[in-house]
Amino acid sequence: TSMIAPRRLSIFGSTGSIGQNTLNVIDHLGGRENFEISVLTGNGNVELLAQQARSSGARLAVIADGRHYESLKSELSGSGTAVAAGKSGMMEAADCEADWVMAAIVGTAGLAPTLAAARRGADIALANKECLVSAGDLFIESVKKGGGKLLPVDSEHNAIFQVLEENQRHAVERIILTASGGPFRTSSLEEMADVTVETARAHPRWSMGLKISIDSASLFNKALEMIEAKHLFGLRPQQVEVIVHPQSVIHSMVGYTDGSVLAQLGAPDMRTAIGYALSHPRRANLPIERLDFAKLARLDFEAPDEKRFPALRLARLAMTRGGVQGAVLNGAKEVALEAFIEGRLPFLAMAEITEKVMDDLIDLPAAATMDDVFAADKEARQRAAGLIR
Ligand code: NAD
Ligand code: MG
Repeated sequence: TSMIAPRRLSIFGSTGSIGQNTLNVIDHLGGRENFEISVLTGNGNVELLAQQARSSGARLAVIADGRHYESLKSELSGSGTAVAAGKSGMMEAADCEADWVMAAIVGTAGLAPTLAAARRGADIALANKECLVSAGDLFIESVKKGGGKLLPVDSEHNAIFQVLEENQRHAVERIILTASGGPFRTSSLEEMADVTVETARAHPRWSMGLKISIDSASLFNKALEMIEAKHLFGLRPQQVEVIVHPQSVIHSMVGYTDGSVLAQLGAPDMRTAIGYALSHPRRANLPIERLDFAKLARLDFEAPDEKRFPALRLARLAMTRGGVQGAVLNGAKEVALEAFIEGRLPFLAMAEITEKVMDDLIDLPAAATMDDVFAADKEARQRAAGLIR
């Protein structure tokens, strides 16, 4: 571990599934011996945030939901960790000196702070796929201008990042994102019509936050990942393929012009991707379950069914239409997802609402600035909310 230079790290969304895994990886790589924790942020879980701040010695802890400011302050009094809250607190978090930032807030809420950190040149370990889905090229541009690295953490994109050789980018023909298929892989449309949050959140392979688990069941997660991949790797829409692979052992693949396909394999454990983003260009030593191929015996593949999972078709639409359709897809989807979680919308209606809003807003001009992205997102949310009502 002495190979790793001490570095200042921030974790946006430290109380979530990715955030907790990130702290775990940091511990395995020497913790406070090797790293300084600049900022940790959370939204509602004050106790966990305070406990993380104390044990990591974070310089600043930020609670995004301003109502919890006083309780976080009292939890951390005398600890040496400074406390901030709300939107301004999140911007303080983004401006704090860390040279590596884990962007692990869920949803569009992660966009502004992540963008600000990218603009000031921090390396961005990107779990928050919504940044790329909504802001696409503008986000990529901001990272480039800032001068930091963009390190994909989403397991599929991290897999591609691991096998995509920089000097062979011109020879990339396609990328193949693997999808576990989720809990409804073999369900009929009739069965999917009245599924509940409880069955939808039970992911067969990965343990994740609530929203991404449900997005995985509808394959909206894969839809977001298709758009994410297009922007991350500078691809045309037709170059982004999806294959259902129930074992989730192959995390994704790159196909080259000579017919070769390179894949990254591993146990379904996000700490591999997080560790790679933290150690890049080296590799960390991590206690991840090792693959036993004799025990695995087989790997299966199936073509995805866009009739039962229309989200994939919507991703393709968003990519070919371009402009702000990614932001519209994501904004409408987030509102529909919220409604499904609250029992106000059937499972299959999430895609119907999203498609309707995308069609309604097809004429919105491409975004010249981030304000245009936020405006498209807002408009999509209002339309979706109106349709659901
Ligand atoms: P989670 O729900 O477990 O955690 C989300 C984090 O964001 C928490 O710290 C929460 O406090 C914070 N947060 C929520 N709302 C907020 C708001 N309005 N303002 C500020 N902070 C807020 O989610 P997760 O599963 O850790 O996923 C985080 C991101 O990583 C998502 O974008 C997800 O798509 C992506 N991702 C997750 C996984 C995974 O395995 N969990 C894999 C790939 C990508
Ligand atoms: Mg993923």
